Amino acid sequence: MLRVGINGYGTIGKRVADAVRAQPDMEVVGVAKTRPNFEAERAVAKDYPLYAAIEDRVELFDDAGIELAGMVEELVEESDVIVDACPSGVGEQNSELYAEHDTPALYQGGESAEFVDTSFNARSNFADAVGADHVRVVSCNTTGLSRLIAPLGEEYGVEKVRATLVRRGGDPAQSSRGPINDILPDPVTLPSHHGPDVQTIFPDLAIDTLGLKVPATLMHMHSVNVTLEAEPDAAAVRDLLADESRLFVIPERFDIDGAGALKEYAQDAGRPRGDIWENCVWGESVTTEGSDLYLFQAIHQESDVVPENVDAIRAVANAADAAESVATTDDALGMGI
Ligand code: NAD
Repeated sequence: MLRVGINGYGTIGKRVADAVRAQPDMEVVGVAKTRPNFEAERAVAKDYPLYAAIEDRVELFDDAGIELAGMVEELVEESDVIVDACPSGVGEQNSELYAEHDTPALYQGGESAEFVDTSFNARSNFADAVGADHVRVVSCNTTGLSRLIAPLGEEYGVEKVRATLVRRGGDPAQSSRGPINDILPDPVTLPSHHGPDVQTIFPDLAIDTLGLKVPATLMHMHSVNVTLEAEPDAAAVRDLLADESRLFVIPERFDIDGAGALKEYAQDAGRPRGDIWENCVWGESVTTEGSDLYLFQAIHQESDVVPENVDAIRAVANAADAAESVATTDDALGMGI
């Protein structure tokens, strides 16, 4: 059994903990928190040993009547792999701690790509992370684009990707984020950081990305144009994408017109927290004009990176190859909505 610790138990960390627990070859050693908030209360209810991330705050847990299993240093020492899901930038600060304990670590997409051995997407470059010490699981948007580009590149060759990313202003619980009533080019200059980020996975890819931020919390929406090196018909592309376990090609008959209906569907399907781990590609949007492919896809920002973290754990531990790992993760989670 791979022993996995999670440092930072917020939006991403709590989902990764549950996904790790669901795997047949992994166990959660514990999770580290900075404060005894509602998420700490739920971690205790789920029997995750709770570690304090900051020494000065131990008293707060004592006052809340929450028993701690120890300090984060002990969690790191006891783990075969640590998943850092702290706010952007904190992971890099923590990287020294992980190195001191010789514990391989995963970081999230908000971290810089500079200090890690490799960035990671299971479908695209699993092998690059095998045996690595510091691996960054790329952001929700980069994960969504990488999953799409990998099969298109293998099947047809990709000449150029152009993507406009309509991004949610914040996650549902991020009450301080916005905009509340606006539409922001974000950034107003081109390209947005997403294109260069995708190049951490596909270094030679020609890609331009534009970003906007809108008053929404449910999902991101991508409008994608890929110039292929072949001229497939739309039905063939649709079939290719539908064969990918982490791409959900939404059937027209579902009558899903946007992110709201998608989230409703996920809840109806009994997904934990209403999560959608798959890219959601509108089947009717898949259109070809010669070698140009167009489509819309929605990305559930809070959860699409979760299976990727699980695969990255196996990669750094050299515990499976890409196909085995993805199959195990998918089976354990119930991928395929
Ligand atoms: P979050 O704020 O929901 O969770 C972070 C958690 O870490 C919080 O519980 C916070 O209290 C805790 N924390 C802060 N400092 C800490 C420390 N020193 N030690 C331990 N815990 C600490 O953030 P999130 O949305 O889960 O984002 C985490 C990372 O995942 C970021 O790099 C982010 O860019 C990336 N990411 C986020 C999303 C998303 O949509 N939420 C999607 C993909 C990737």
